[in-house]
Amino acid sequence: MDILPGTSINQFLERLTTLTKERDGHELEQTLKQTISSLVELFTNTQAKSVRIYRLKEISTLFFSAVSEDQINVEEKISDELCQSLLDCYNTGHCKELKASDGKTFHLFPIKHEVAYNNSVIAVEAEYSHEGLTQAIVHLLAIYHNYNGLLNDNERDTLTGLLNRKTFDQKIGKIMSALHSNAMRKDDRAGVSYFIAIFDIDHFKRVNDEFGHLIGDEVLLLFSQMMTKSFRDSDPLFRFGGEEFVGVFGCAQDADIDMVLKRFTDKLQVFNFPQVGRVTASVGYTRLTADSAPSQLVDRADLALYYAKNHGRNRTCSYDELKAQGLLQEDIKEGEIELF
Ligand code: GH3
Ligand code: MG
Ligand code: MG
Repeated sequence: MDILPGTSINQFLERLTTLTKERDGHELEQTLKQTISSLVELFTNTQAKSVRIYRLKEISTLFFSAVSEDQINVEEKISDELCQSLLDCYNTGHCKELKASDGKTFHLFPIKHEVAYNNSVIAVEAEYSHEGLTQAIVHLLAIYHNYNGLLNDNERDTLTGLLNRKTFDQKIGKIMSALHSNAMRKDDRAGVSYFIAIFDIDHFKRVNDEFGHLIGDEVLLLFSQMMTKSFRDSDPLFRFGGEEFVGVFGCAQDADIDMVLKRFTDKLQVFNFPQVGRVTASVGYTRLTADSAPSQLVDRADLALYYAKNHGRNRTCSYDELKAQGLLQEDIKEGEIELF
């Protein structure tokens, strides 16, 4: 039997099976790209060319700040012309063919969500010239859409669309085991340090008491949207409890974390929440180390948050710095800290 180049139907189905096995939204997107490539290869019998995904950056302005993502951590702003094509494509719900000046043919496919969150994948683009492939990609995207809906129901908080606490345990577990195997191999070539930060809105009870629960919910939603806009897509954000949020941040240099968190708190300082006005938050954070248990890390960040709350609120404190300066009460045992 001749061995054909490209992908066989079995290889494609294998990819599709992998897609429905993913439990992590970000990995699901990467697998989606691979599965589309696989389908293009199956039809054209040649290696797939470019496949891109477009995500929603700001719900309020829909596509106008959509970004494409070719590689993890690389975001690329898109042209006004492409924005318009995305908008047409999304509004009509139909795929759109685009001809580039160099003669290449691209196809844009909308992915409509019942609820679109910041960072939701709202379209994919594939380069190919083959009749019949378009309908096959539409069917594949319908499978992705259904599966992604199930995953979102399971891993996201319904009010804010951020990841939920249950998902935190899985994500942090993955990061910790990657850190652990790097440490075992004495491999720090990647050079990325991770930090975990807990954000707790100051005097949030007063917001509810003064303005009611609905306005309180709106503050939570706007707060979470501000977080999504301030931080990178690759830094997962969680709603941990009522008005408490957690982020896990990858930083090329340790000093970057201060800048990353300050960028957010600076934005928060000047934001005018409808009716409520100014809202502040206290933040506690710590560096992730391979030898700590995830619960211990949360407790450390929480200790720093506890310190921030007890020292005027509206401030950001590092567990590691407080510890080095001897400012943490040694009699508060880790694991016994109350969540705010
Ligand atoms: P502190 O500065 O010490 O953090 O004070 P606080 O008032 O923010 O903290 P506390 O933990 O006493 O109050 C948190 C409040 O958050 C109490 C609860 O009613 C409210 N809350 C929790 N979940 C929700 C929610 O989903 N929606 C609304 N509107 N309020 C919530
Ligand atoms: Mg609070
Ligand atoms: Mg709290």
